[in-house]
Amino acid sequence: MKCLRCGYCCINLSLVTIHPDYIKEDLIINELPEEAFIFKPDGEKCPHLTFEDNKAVCKIHQYNWYYQTPCYNHNQIERKNSDCRLGKHIIDNNVNVFDFLIQQKRKA
Ligand code: SF4
Ligand code: SF4
Repeated sequence: MKCLRCGYCCINLSLVTIHPDYIKEDLIINELPEEAFIFKPDGEKCPHLTFEDNKAVCKIHQYNWYYQTPCYNHNQIERKNSDCRLGKHIIDNNVNVFDFLIQQKRKA
């Protein structure tokens, strides 16, 4: 699955990411201390997520070491590498991902 970077998962999933204080260009993931890894609970915006013109932007995507993070490896099992359907819906319909989450919670 190709993540289309709609921002939904960066808010709605529980995940482990790197503490913003440790972010730097030449970071070496294997050499980080334990406290450099933080738990982001579901429903909370990741500290690295910003929105520009309603488009999700990850502030750490541009670093070479990003490919070693769990976020990069976030995937789902499918027969082919197709676009994320949820992300496509959100992007094609210009859905505000925060409103989308609030509506989902109200329906639950
Ligand atoms: S690190 Fe980037 S991709 Fe991962 S949850 Fe945060 S904003 Fe999203
Ligand atoms: S819903 Fe899909 S496109 Fe959006 S962040 Fe998650 S994987 Fe990426």
